[in-house]
Amino acid sequence: MTVLKIKNSAESVEVNTVYCIGKNYADHVKEMHIEGLDNSIPETPVIFLKPSNAVNVPGNRITIPEYSGKPISNDLQNEAELVIVIGKDGENIPEEDAFEYIKGFAVGIDFTLRDIQTLMKKQGKPWAVAKGFKTSSPVSEITLKEDLPNVNDLAIKLAVNGELKQNGRTSQMIFSIKYIVSYLSHIFGLKEGDLIFTGTPAGVSTLKKGDKVTAEIEGIGSLNVTIG
Ligand code: MG
Repeated sequence: MTVLKIKNSAESVEVNTVYCIGKNYADHVKEMHIEGLDNSIPETPVIFLKPSNAVNVPGNRITIPEYSGKPISNDLQNEAELVIVIGKDGENIPEEDAFEYIKGFAVGIDFTLRDIQTLMKKQGKPWAVAKGFKTSSPVSEITLKEDLPNVNDLAIKLAVNGELKQNGRTSQMIFSIKYIVSYLSHIFGLKEGDLIFTGTPAGVSTLKKGDKVTAEIEGIGSLNVTIG
């Protein structure tokens, strides 16, 4: 079971399905350019899922999995993201009702094994290993939506060892929060406890053992993890 605390509350949320939106900031789409593939801005959201266990990060330590005694990747990268927390079940939700189904928001990092993801993209294979490995998805405490009136325009930042790497605003999202909630509810149906990672601004970088990574969203808080 994966549980997230709500800020200033004894209440918590049991995590259900973890949805993620890819390519939701134009400057990140640009930096992800891969020769020979379609690098255009998507017309419908790029969606992938992670196991809820990916949110469990013991000791706030992010680790590349090992198999047969060696790490499966040489390129772990950071993606700071606003995370939507769904508060009640809903299907076919109209955009104008989307916020009724949202409990709150959190800071998340969609850690990515970029070498594996790039290979899978080139081969037309799924991203599950690159995105869903153990410890890949730390999430902060939840801030209730009532405490965050301007969620559509918040500063989102990430630093590695104190050096600023990502610096964007949630207003730069290609697909808005209400659109994403409505769209996912039509395709999958949403359940209480679902999380939606909403994509990352530019500034992803290769991390090494011992790096201290801090993601921060204005009005929500910060998330601190160590690579190791
Ligand atoms: Mg991402």
